[in-house]
Amino acid sequence: MSSKVTDYKSFKEFASGIFGDGFIPLHRPVFGGNEKQYLAECIESNFVSSVGVKVSEFENLVASFCGSKYGIATMNGTSALHVSLLLVGVNSGDEVLTQATTFIATCNAISYCQASPVLLDIDEDTLGLSPYSLKSFLAEFGDVRSNGTFNRITGRRIAACLPMHTFGNPCRILEIVEICNEYGIPVVEDAAESLGSYVNSKYTGSFGKCGVFSFNGNKIITTGGGGVIITDDAELASRAKYITTTAKVPHSWEFVHDQIAYNYRMPNLNAALGCAQMEQLDTFLTKKAELADQWDIFFTKKKINFFRPIDGNISNNWLNTIVLDSKKERDEFLKNTNEIGIMTRPAWMLMSDLVMFQSCQTDGLKTSRWVQDRLVNIPSSVPD
Ligand SMILES: *Cc1c(COP(=O)(O)O)cnc(C)c1O
Repeated sequence: MSSKVTDYKSFKEFASGIFGDGFIPLHRPVFGGNEKQYLAECIESNFVSSVGVKVSEFENLVASFCGSKYGIATMNGTSALHVSLLLVGVNSGDEVLTQATTFIATCNAISYCQASPVLLDIDEDTLGLSPYSLKSFLAEFGDVRSNGTFNRITGRRIAACLPMHTFGNPCRILEIVEICNEYGIPVVEDAAESLGSYVNSKYTGSFGKCGVFSFNGNKIITTGGGGVIITDDAELASRAKYITTTAKVPHSWEFVHDQIAYNYRMPNLNAALGCAQMEQLDTFLTKKAELADQWDIFFTKKKINFFRPIDGNISNNWLNTIVLDSKKERDEFLKNTNEIGIMTRPAWMLMSDLVMFQSCQTDGLKTSRWVQDRLVNIPSSVPD
C-alpha cells in the first residue's frame, strides 16, 4: 500500500469480505425495495414524464425527511443548482463565492447564470468551504453598498455563496450562513452528496436560503438521474417549480408562457425510483455508518488517517476517505488498488486548475492543494 502499508493483499481481502469477490466499484446503487413495483405503476398509468403523482410524492418525501417545507424535483442536481442560483438573484456578470475543491457541476451551474466563481479555500477538518477564508476574503474585498456587496477588485456584485458538503461531511455551515448574513449574501447549499448528513440535529441543505441534492446513480440514493431543491421559502418554491416547467401559465388548453424558462422537471419514472429509494434511506444510512466504522478500524490499525467529521457534525458517509502522507503515497495507493480491481479515486482537480476557471480569483488555496495531493476515496457502497 503506501510506505506504511505494503500489504495490498490484506486490503483486497478486507474489501472482498465486505463487498464480495470481483471488481469493487466506488459506489454502486442498491435496489432492494419497491423500485420495480413503483416503476410498473407509472407505466400502467401512462404517466411516465414530468406530470404524475410520483413526482410530488418524491418531493414531499425528501423535503419532510430534511425538515424543510418545500421540495422541487429536477432532472439532475446540476439543473437544481442552476435554478437555485437564478432564484436567489444571481445575474449575468455577478460573482458567486464557492470552494475550489468540488465537482465540476458546482462551477458549471454558476457559469450557466453567466456569473463567475470566486474560488476559496476549504477547512482541512471538514473538506468544505472554510468560514475563516470566507471571512478574510469578505473583509478584504467585500464592499457593502445599498444594492449589495461588491468585490473591490473586480467591481462585480457578490450575488451568492455556494458551499459544498464534501463526500457527505458537513462543512461549517452555521458559521458560513452567519458571515453571509452580515454581508447580505444569500447561501445556496450544494448538498448533492450529503442527503442525511446533519449538524446539531439539522439536516444539510436546510441551512441556506435553499439546498440542492443530486440523485445520480452514484449518490446515496438514486433516481437514475435527478435533483431536488429544498427550501422553507414559499415564493422561491413556487418560482422554482414554474421555471423548471417552461413557465407555463396554468390554463386548460392554451399554451401561454410568460418568460424564457427551462424543461428541467423530473420525470415520473425517475421519481418512482426515488420514492422506493427514500423508503430505504434510513437503512442505507445505518449500513454506511457501520461500513465507515469497519474501514476506520482497518486503517487506524495501519496508522492511516481515516477521515471523520468534526464534533457535532454527522456524515451520511457517502464516500469514505483516507488522507495519506504525500502525493507520492497517494499515487502509489491509487495505482496499486486500481490494479487489483478495487476502485479508488483522488479528489477532483481543483476548479482553479481547469482551463475554464484558471482566471478566477482565488485566495491561494493552501489547504485545498494540500488535501488534493493526499486524499483518496475508497469503496463505499451500501454493503448487502
Ligand atoms: C453529484 C453532484 C452534483 C450534481 O450532479 P448531477 O450529476 O447533475 O446530479 C453537484 N454537485 C456536487 C458536489 C456533486 O457531487
